[in-house]
Amino acid sequence: MNEDRLREDIAAIGKSLYDRGLAHGSAGNISVKLADGWLMTPTNSCMGRLDPARISRIDAKGALISGDKPSKETFLHLAMYEERASTGAVVHLHSVHSVAVSCMDGLDPGDVFPPITAYAIMQVGKLALVPYYPPGDESLAEAVRAVAGRHHAVLLANHGPVVAGSTLDAAVNAIEELEQTAKLMLLLDGHATRYLTPVQVAQLNSRFKS
Ligand SMILES: [Zn+2]
Repeated sequence: MNEDRLREDIAAIGKSLYDRGLAHGSAGNISVKLADGWLMTPTNSCMGRLDPARISRIDAKGALISGDKPSKETFLHLAMYEERASTGAVVHLHSVHSVAVSCMDGLDPGDVFPPITAYAIMQVGKLALVPYYPPGDESLAEAVRAVAGRHHAVLLANHGPVVAGSTLDAAVNAIEELEQTAKLMLLLDGHATRYLTPVQVAQLNSRFKS
């Protein structure tokens, strides 16, 4: 797909996420892989008002080629691309339900969500929890790298989700499913719940997982 179209897609998806309350202020960032680098949303930019022409273009080593300075969270995206060769796009949000779950005690770090719905299993899979580090801390990049090979969706503790997809649409759809699943997990808290059984989960994994 050509670069101009990708820039417009990033801005349109950013606005859609912002308009629906999935991004606020300058929180959240989107990147898309190019043949020789990446497009990355700029630092301190509002997802609801992205200018396609000012989106950062960075080279294969992460250096800025054109556009505004890239997000301070670019390293989270690069960690995903480095560990997952099939990644075409990465989305990171501070969406409220996912952040709420990321603050809960007693989560399984290898599989945060209980098996609530088929679509969560198909699109999010096993969500990994990454320990808390301050934003921008290089240890956070290392912690993401440590799990990214096995998980295309990770949840940064007390921070938010990062999701890789083969395309921008795939990454956005998966992070929206993740946010919905977090909301369901919170809604079900304290309610007797009939989760999918291990056999039902195994069937989904064998039939739908790529
Ligand atoms: Zn963040």
